[in-house]
Amino acid sequence: MLSAADIRALRGLCPNRLHVDVPLGRISRWRVGGKADVVVRPRGVAQLSALIRLCLERRLPYVVVGATSNLLFADEGLRALCIQVQGDTSDIAVRGNEIDVGAGVWGPYLTLSAMHAGLTGIEHLCGVPGSVGGLIYMNAGSQRKSIGNALVRVVSVDGNGAVMHRDAADCGFTTRHSVFHGNREIISGATLRLAPGARDTIRREMMSIMAARRAKFPLRFPNCGSVFVSNPAMYERWGPPGAVIEQAGLKGFRIGGAVVSRLHANFIVNAGGATAADILAVMRHVRSVVHQRTGHLLQPEVRFVEPSGQIGSALDADAYAA
Ligand SMILES: Cc1cc2nc3c(=O)[nH]c(=O)nc-3n(C[C@H](O)[C@H](O)[C@H](O)COP(=O)(O)OP(=O)(O)OC[C@H]3O[C@@H](n4cnc5c(N)ncnc54)[C@H](O)[C@@H]3O)c2cc1C
Repeated sequence: MLSAADIRALRGLCPNRLHVDVPLGRISRWRVGGKADVVVRPRGVAQLSALIRLCLERRLPYVVVGATSNLLFADEGLRALCIQVQGDTSDIAVRGNEIDVGAGVWGPYLTLSAMHAGLTGIEHLCGVPGSVGGLIYMNAGSQRKSIGNALVRVVSVDGNGAVMHRDAADCGFTTRHSVFHGNREIISGATLRLAPGARDTIRREMMSIMAARRAKFPLRFPNCGSVFVSNPAMYERWGPPGAVIEQAGLKGFRIGGAVVSRLHANFIVNAGGATAADILAVMRHVRSVVHQRTGHLLQPEVRFVEPSGQIGSALDADAYAA
């Protein structure tokens, strides 16, 4: 719980960028979650570093979020300080074949900037919703590619407020995973190295990717993308999670406002008024049915944010709810 003095100190550091009593349903991609006591949106690495030092000094618990495209917030909301890393297109600088970008930039804007600069290599990210920091944290991507392949270095702020510079080789990128899952670093920016390409070819490729995604993914209702990660052993025998969930007859399965999408069974949509509890209940049911049919336990890709600010696999929500 933050005191009035904590809030004053935070506001002094990030004037006009601090908000109290923020309904998470308004900012979260799934449109669920109770109230966040305080949301702060620092600007630039110096402000971020000063913010972390202040949190350390005042022993303030905090949680870092980007565009919330992979997060499920608890119905009880958030008592820890919510640090949301946000930026805009002014945080993108093209230098030859390299692009410096702030972590708060919306990923699809970055792919558009690369296209305008005639640079190829990140078209696969054009439809992946997320901030650059969130994309790097998750090593996000599509078409069997990941953002990590295009990165040269990442700038972050560690748990003591110190600014760190890491080469991409030190970022531990594997499928939808990075070193940032295991440390307290907040990504504040990155440099990508791309290859020169013809603008028209890049544009056509991006339009074709977007058309395929529009046909495949449920975009009408709020959702967090794929809920479960693919498991190679299950994939070999049974197929990807979406196909397995569909074969189990779970498309359209509903608890409260949370529904297994009829378009893509690995998506759970908020069809109206869903709570985090509804979504977790649907996840548990899907997991249990798939386990009975295949012997494989699906692992969530979506991450759960507890009121304390603890963030982990949505499976942790079971422990939290227990
Ligand atoms: C419709 C839809 C389609 C999707 N398709 C894909 C897809 O094709 N491929 C794919 O990989 N993903 C996909 N996703 C998931 C999502 O887009 C990615 O996981 C993305 O990387 C999340 O970025 P974010 O900024 O929203 O991160 P958030 O959801 O806000 O956070 C995710 C995690 O990253 C951490 N984090 C965020 N920012 C920072 C930072 N600056 N520093 C340190 N940690 C940080 C958070 O603490 C959290 O643990 C999809 C989601 C949706 C809704």
